[in-house]
Amino acid sequence: MKFKFLLFVLVFIINFSVNSQTNWDELIDEHLKEIIKEHKDFVSIPNLPENKNRMLKNINWVADNYKTLGFKVSLLESSSLPLLLLEKEYNPEFSTVLFYFHIDGQPVDANNWDQKDPFIPVLKSRDEKGNWKTLNWDAINQRIDNEWRIFARAAADDKGPIVMLLNALKFLNTEGITPKFNIKIVFDPEEEYGSNAFLSTIETYKERYAADAMIIMDGPAHESNKPTLTFGCRGIATCTITTYGAKLSQHSGHYGNYVPNPVFSLSSILSSMKDETGKVLIKDFYSGIYFSSEEQQILNNVPDDTKVLNNRLGIKQPEKVGNNYQEALQYPSLNVRQIETSWKGNKPKTVIPEIAMANIDVRLVAETDGKVQLDKVKSHIENLGYTVLDRDPTDEERLKYSKIVKFTRSNGVNAFRTNLNSKLGTTLRENLTEIFGEVPISIRTMGGTVPIISAVKTLDVPAIIVPTVNMDNNQHSPNENIRIGNIREGIKTCIAILQSKI
Ligand SMILES: [Zn+2]
Repeated sequence: MKFKFLLFVLVFIINFSVNSQTNWDELIDEHLKEIIKEHKDFVSIPNLPENKNRMLKNINWVADNYKTLGFKVSLLESSSLPLLLLEKEYNPEFSTVLFYFHIDGQPVDANNWDQKDPFIPVLKSRDEKGNWKTLNWDAINQRIDNEWRIFARAAADDKGPIVMLLNALKFLNTEGITPKFNIKIVFDPEEEYGSNAFLSTIETYKERYAADAMIIMDGPAHESNKPTLTFGCRGIATCTITTYGAKLSQHSGHYGNYVPNPVFSLSSILSSMKDETGKVLIKDFYSGIYFSSEEQQILNNVPDDTKVLNNRLGIKQPEKVGNNYQEALQYPSLNVRQIETSWKGNKPKTVIPEIAMANIDVRLVAETDGKVQLDKVKSHIENLGYTVLDRDPTDEERLKYSKIVKFTRSNGVNAFRTNLNSKLGTTLRENLTEIFGEVPISIRTMGGTVPIISAVKTLDVPAIIVPTVNMDNNQHSPNENIRIGNIREGIKTCIAILQSKI
């Protein structure tokens, strides 16, 4: 009892001492109505890159808003739409942080949305049965509920975060607080379509983008919806393995038991690559991967619910590469994403196909280079006794070798990972802890691959992804939405970032 009382007093003191938290909450509350209107205004401008004029409208919207905060505006020429770069120097002694956002949205198929137009935003609340009900926009003049959502394309991905940083800067400005670093912000006009425009500018404008750190504001926070820092993401390399039977497909009656079927040789190659627990058996596939006990602890601290995850996936037993989901992402993976034979008809036919082909992707982590990993895959096949070519075999080769494989490859893009204890990581973690009163979730490596990895690599800058929107935002799908509580907390996250001495 006594202990509980002490704990209560302690929690009270801690809460009370972080007075900056209370102030920011109040300030955001006071202005939330205008912020929501501003977000509504922004997501009402369609942002599909195929319409250049409308994209320029989006770019101007951002530029005009930042101009009022004293940012220098530049449009950098690219292979297609221009790149918007905003800059503000607060103190020549400060380090510089480059923020990255994207301004474009995923394509829309309006028929699959529960609203007339994905670019006419709709405010909704959820009833007791879990159904979404449309609210009149006037509702925000009475009160604003954190659980309400704004439905529109790009509401979360990625216009929500753009509005969050903009308002964090406005709040610091009105409070007379200077950010602790100089700021550059780049807006990618085509991220959802491969970032070609942005990537085409990296070499030319390397100096303009130069910074001491990069913060990528995109993607959803951890499933628990708690403040999240993501320190890296996996890269990807791909290859195809083709095995050969006869020169032409053959009748399985006339030639069954005589002509070798390439599906079986392909299957035996593939099954030699992984054991029953899912571990890759290719020599040295996991070499060089190590995490300290401290990093292990950070991985274990991510509040993933294994039971919920497995229920959602419908699997009883995950693979055993790592001890849990986060650990699994720290290793390169080997995935067969497609298998096909030369017979592609709708109905089965009694043929022995002439070829079988497996399409493979290898997700990479910071310790593994795409070229090296694919070399290991290739050597593995050679060690099984195959002659490995990078083209189809000639007639002579078919007659000379009984085991032939065609191996084609793309070394792809390598992963990036910033050290969890880097200055950037430590200062962001400390400031987020202070403003939220709890330590943010640290994701050491996220599973997917983002197109801007190659920019991070070329700019050679420590980078952290700060995802702020709700995980269930239907990003890339119909009915994309943002939870209002995430707008509120995202602004706080940005305030914490801006006050970090990076
Ligand atoms: Zn995005």
